[in-house]
Amino acid sequence: MSMRTTDEIRIQDLEVYAYHGVFEEEQREGQRFYVDAVLSTDLRQAGSSDRLEDATDYGAVCHTIYETMREEPCRLIERAAQKTAEAILLTYPDVRAVTLEIKKPEAPIDLPFSCVSVRIERGWHSVYVALGSNMGDRQALISEAVVHLKQENCCRGIRVSDLIETAPYGGVEQEDFLNGVLEMETWLSPFQLLKLLQETERRAGRERSIRWGPRTLDMDILFYDDLILEDIELTIPHKDMANRIFVLKPLCQLAPGKRHPVLKQTVEELLTRLQTNMGSG
Ligand code: AMP
Repeated sequence: MSMRTTDEIRIQDLEVYAYHGVFEEEQREGQRFYVDAVLSTDLRQAGSSDRLEDATDYGAVCHTIYETMREEPCRLIERAAQKTAEAILLTYPDVRAVTLEIKKPEAPIDLPFSCVSVRIERGWHSVYVALGSNMGDRQALISEAVVHLKQENCCRGIRVSDLIETAPYGGVEQEDFLNGVLEMETWLSPFQLLKLLQETERRAGRERSIRWGPRTLDMDILFYDDLILEDIELTIPHKDMANRIFVLKPLCQLAPGKRHPVLKQTVEELLTRLQTNMGSG
């Protein structure tokens, strides 16, 4: 995973004549929009080499913004902003995050004003997801889930650990599990990611009848960057991960040096500690 950088490329007041708006007249006549974009991207390589190939071409980025803004009319500038931010993240892989502001100085407001705008930030977040299956063709169910995620624009750089056989957890009589961990980057928020994983589980026909009971596919968020989140619906880092060999082992294969933001220990340290406590070396 590349290091975070504070370098930026800034584009200011790119003028685009486009057709976004709720009113029929706005969609018919169009109006001027101005776009500001701040791209977070490492400029050191280009700074050293002085070669355009090492840089994110800001002229090309301006055209991507222009073309996305003119692609199809949106009712809301929120939608236009999100589509444009996503187009930048997809087209320029070196851009880790983008802040985008769309200004609408001619918005239909019957009061004096200079401008209304929306400003959003979108970027690639590093996430780890635990995978588990103990029903049906376990290997195939996990592979299909990975293929499903690979088809989504919002996910990139997917890597999967080796899968390991594990005895069931929680005392319910059932088949052995196949467990692994998936690493990827996503521009989804934690809750959007949870929704995507639940939809992926549903596609695998998961039944949620018995707690700790058999499941075709289980996907849990382990880490989302270094985020600490405690919500009734979602806890990140996953609250039981440090007690589960079948999570730490495959996770350690992908990210041994990743530090748990609450426990402040690396994945490798957590695994060693757990193995020692369990006396299984
Ligand atoms: P399970 O049936 O064990 O997969 O639990 C799924 C439920 O746990 C979901 O409905 C989530 O709302 C909740 N949950 C809490 N934290 C997490 C997490 N880190 N990843 C996935 N689900 C979580």
